[in-house]
Amino acid sequence: MKKSIVKAAWVLCACGACVAANAQQQKTYPQPERMRPGMTEYWTPQPLVVTPGHDTGVGSLTAPSDAIVLFDGKDLSKWESAKGGPADWEVHNGVLTVNKKSGDIQTKEKFKNFQLHVEWMVPKDITGTSQARGNSGVYLQGLYEVQVLDCYHNETYVNGQTGAIYKQTPPLVNAMRKPGEWNVYDIVFTAPVFKTNGTYLYPPRVTVFQNGILLQNNTAIWGTTEYIGLPRVVKQETGPILLQAHGDPSASISFRNIWIRPLP
Ligand code: MG
Repeated sequence: MKKSIVKAAWVLCACGACVAANAQQQKTYPQPERMRPGMTEYWTPQPLVVTPGHDTGVGSLTAPSDAIVLFDGKDLSKWESAKGGPADWEVHNGVLTVNKKSGDIQTKEKFKNFQLHVEWMVPKDITGTSQARGNSGVYLQGLYEVQVLDCYHNETYVNGQTGAIYKQTPPLVNAMRKPGEWNVYDIVFTAPVFKTNGTYLYPPRVTVFQNGILLQNNTAIWGTTEYIGLPRVVKQETGPILLQAHGDPSASISFRNIWIRPLP
């Protein structure tokens, strides 16, 4: 019985189609060249050499060699009032302190994609609660706020706390240092790409570290920062870095060591 089944199968495989298929299987073809390590290694173009900053001795590094230094502790020559005219925040002892009366300041230069480094400190004697406690902000392209606030043992709405994309996306964690200590923001911003009708083809995106801890991981930004109402889409290719002079009654915060590296 077994023998007859095998014979039947052989008869089937001998039909015209199967004979052709068998012949093709037996044909030999050239094989890809065997891979060697060097086949997946390339040497050009070499990345530009960038010299990292060095320790300043006060808990931060100086700017890397290819950065544009926006504030080096000496003057506000790279800045202007957001209302027009010179920036008149107070520069003292290597730091920059918000002047709430004079309003926001922004860089004279505009940027598209970038890596931004900003250090900021809430005064040791800060008072107030929720949003009225050391409120400021870093506006990317002058439109999108990464919140600055004293959230050390100070609760507020989560999409308005330190490191939030204000009124949009809360930070992943609360990485605050206590008042009187310096906090460090390292921000990577990818500018939006627009359709011809002015809407987003790709929205802006942002990654934020505070004190080396990830707060925003390539977060999509929905549009402009609005205190009241929904974000808007504004067709803008480049914009300044803007620092907020918030009107809360608490003491003004300070900034230092601000630099930016434009990215492709
Ligand atoms: Mg703010």
